[in-house]
Amino acid sequence: MSAKHILVVEDERPIREMIAFGLKRAGFEVSEAEDSRSARSALVDRRPDLMLVDWMLPDTSGLELTRSIKRERETRDLPIIMLTARAAEADKVTGLDGGADDYLTKPFSPRELVARVNALLRRSAGAGVGEAIRLGKLLLDRAGHRVSSDGVPVVLGPTEYRLLEFFMLHPDRVYSREQLLDRVWGGNVYVEERTIDVHIRRLRKVLEAHECDQYIQTVRGSGYRCSERVDT
Ligand code: CA
Repeated sequence: MSAKHILVVEDERPIREMIAFGLKRAGFEVSEAEDSRSARSALVDRRPDLMLVDWMLPDTSGLELTRSIKRERETRDLPIIMLTARAAEADKVTGLDGGADDYLTKPFSPRELVARVNALLRRSAGAGVGEAIRLGKLLLDRAGHRVSSDGVPVVLGPTEYRLLEFFMLHPDRVYSREQLLDRVWGGNVYVEERTIDVHIRRLRKVLEAHECDQYIQTVRGSGYRCSERVDT
């Protein structure tokens, strides 16, 4: 298997080099970018398997960069770990709201960094277009845009399919309606948050016929979560 390719976006050179060194030593291939603009052109040149994005960048902030990457259909599945000196819980939430998949507070050890990178790569495995994702009885075939439950086809509309695909790629995490709008519908379309509830209802109704509707869970006051486990 070829080495996984990590793009490191950080303007402070000593920190960037320290990160790159640690990752290379762990067997990763590393590209470096010093600001959002060079990160964007690096992305066009070659898509990495994962990105490390520093919050504080000299041009657009790392948060804005992450947001824009997660808004675009071609790059929204790209795993991103946000790096920051801010340890505050509110900032962590903002980082994750912006679409980062994980969060690492400076200072961190190379070992911690490598562990988090590996963990996120494992979580994202199977997230590549064309692969199949499984959750409980459900199998989603991304190449064929097909879903089945115990081998029986589950017929979904395009929005319900995209919603289920997003949920199955990010299980066991709660997403607010706003986050779902951003991540599933994309940032360009204006859709009311209530629309989410309509599509969730439709999705559940179809899944109900296959006894899988319990995977789509309402988290009171927060949003929705997809999980194989049913909390009591
Ligand atoms: Ca920085």
